[in-house]
Amino acid sequence: MKRDYYKILDVPRTAAEAEIKKAYRRLAMKYHPDRNPDDAEAEGRFKEAKEAYEVLTDSQKRAAYDQYGHAGVEAAAAGARGRGSGAADAFSDIFGDVFGDIFGTARRSGGRAQVFRGADLRYELELDLPQAVFGHTIEIEVPKLVECEVCHGTGAAKGSSPITCDTCGGVGQVRISQGFFQLQQTCPKCRGGGTIVRNPCDGCFGQGRVRRTRKLSVKIPPGVDSGDRIRLAGEGEAGRNGGPPGDLYVETHVREHPIFERDGEHLSCEVPVSFATAVLGGTVEVPTLDGNIALKIPAETQSGRVFRLRDKGVKPVRGGSRGDLFCRVVVETPVHLSAEQKELIRKLDDSLKHGGPRHAPREKSFFEGVKRFFSSSA
Ligand SMILES: [Zn+2]
Ligand SMILES: [Zn+2]
Repeated sequence: MKRDYYKILDVPRTAAEAEIKKAYRRLAMKYHPDRNPDDAEAEGRFKEAKEAYEVLTDSQKRAAYDQYGHAGVEAAAAGARGRGSGAADAFSDIFGDVFGDIFGTARRSGGRAQVFRGADLRYELELDLPQAVFGHTIEIEVPKLVECEVCHGTGAAKGSSPITCDTCGGVGQVRISQGFFQLQQTCPKCRGGGTIVRNPCDGCFGQGRVRRTRKLSVKIPPGVDSGDRIRLAGEGEAGRNGGPPGDLYVETHVREHPIFERDGEHLSCEVPVSFATAVLGGTVEVPTLDGNIALKIPAETQSGRVFRLRDKGVKPVRGGSRGDLFCRVVVETPVHLSAEQKELIRKLDDSLKHGGPRHAPREKSFFEGVKRFFSSSA
């Protein structure tokens, strides 16, 4: 069941044309497919509003609708078929004056053609960990299609201009009537542009756009991680036919760091400590992204023990508190020992053995575990 045209536009039955136009403009702005991509409901609303607007601003159709409802309009449409391009012209006028300001672009004389938004682009940007953590401004070079400098996007050679497409009369769309239905299709000759270039520009071979490399300065906010995207509005490819440019999405990739591993807002690193420090305790210098700090190693620290340094991680780009740095202690085995040093180690080892398993808590629990394993599987 079709809804009432006045209800669709939310105007009284006595509404003047200006009021109808205003109501339609408001709905069209809200439901336009460019603003609601992949939203079937919005698309339906948009079409509904457009239909209501087309009927109620046409005095003949409006009179027929007021008297006979939807059936009256369909009868009028059937009668109008074959009267030439009147319907198409009415449509393009609606399109031109209602949408001209949405796209915000100066239209060429006639102002009827369809406009095409430029494509969005993606740029993969590699960052070092400190750049990602603290933010950074970086210059990038982006190859993209931009408006041709010679013809300013028209595609026509100097001194000439594109001519109106004779297939669609410059509308960019053709209407095909099938029974009561009217289908609208992109014009096959001008591909929707409404104009044809007879005398192509040398700069762009009639395309209106050329491939150029553009330098851009990108501000990386602190805390970004691999896979984050920064949108640069309007820095995508140039539009066609006066359409707006697309956007550029800069996707960040954080390079591996020689010391730190990152897991979201937390960092981790390995800290080698000498055998003596691990046994007797002491202090070691630990790197952080803010500079070195002293980490206290308690006596009898085992290899693999993790120390947590609060607030030495990353402050997430989407907010939240700064993460921590986890330092994992690795006890270093001494190498390249002299005969004398080896002898000292042997003496120490004998002395430790003499003291029994209490000097080796890990070894003790390991061998007890092995014993349990074999007795339970036997
Ligand atoms: Zn050109
Ligand atoms: Zn055409």
